[in-house]
Amino acid sequence: RTVYVNGEYLPEDQAKISVFDRGFLFADGVYEVTSVLDGKLIDFAGHAARLQRSLSELEMASPVTSEELLAIHKELVARNELTEGLVYLQVTRGAADRDFLYPDEDTAPTIVLFTQAKPGLADAPAAKRGIKVISIPDRRWGRRDIKTVQLLYPSMGKMMAKAAGADDAWMVEDGAVTEGTSNNAYIVKGNTIITRHLGEEILHGITRAAVLRMAAESQMKVEERSFTMEEAMDADEAFVTSASTFVMPVVEIDGAQIGTGAPGKVAARLREIYLDESLKAAV
Ligand code: PLP
Repeated sequence: RTVYVNGEYLPEDQAKISVFDRGFLFADGVYEVTSVLDGKLIDFAGHAARLQRSLSELEMASPVTSEELLAIHKELVARNELTEGLVYLQVTRGAADRDFLYPDEDTAPTIVLFTQAKPGLADAPAAKRGIKVISIPDRRWGRRDIKTVQLLYPSMGKMMAKAAGADDAWMVEDGAVTEGTSNNAYIVKGNTIITRHLGEEILHGITRAAVLRMAAESQMKVEERSFTMEEAMDADEAFVTSASTFVMPVVEIDGAQIGTGAPGKVAARLREIYLDESLKAAV
């Protein structure tokens, strides 16, 4: 694989970053994941905008403009002949003597991008079957709206899900579902789609924004509010959204079947609309 590191395209085994990189020492870095279908980037503008927001919330300089970022993404997709998969991008505050205080402003940020081939991403068998989730307490830090590389708790959550024979975990705080370990969570009751309102408690999903817009355009009813696990278990449908899974139906929560136990109509329709419209707008 060819990867991108600080201005250079290199074979992956020649790419290097410093042991003093603050991403490594403090998880002082942010990231984005953009999916690629038919060799094109899905919702690149959304990911680029959120990256700028994450950087600015952490008072981190942007190493590249959004135009340069698009060019790097495209170059990497071309060099790796990627038709279906993901582009991962990470920016850290750079390498400096280990100190809790941020280093001098002239410290160069580190920027790394690589691709991951995922044949069958759009046609995932899991989307036809639906996934199983368990609930776990949300024990992450309080600024989940910033997309940092501090992902240990979500990683533990996926391990807990796996140990329980499930695919993923929904996190619960103060009696309400926040989100999935790496996706936004939704339930459907009657013909209303319910998903948690935006705030510092969840990541502002790029897929979430697109799906809610498309749902509204298709005259579906949407409520952005907190919901409890009890409401979720009693829902007609459930699903999650993310850049790498698009719209993914949830058919079981904490061992209880949701709706008929098969992917619901609303989730299936939204997945179709999302894939169709995002592909048309892909760059
Ligand atoms: N919530 C969390 C905690 C995530 O990690 C992610 C994606 O990785 C999402 C939601 C979905 O965001 P997006 O649709 O931008 O991929």
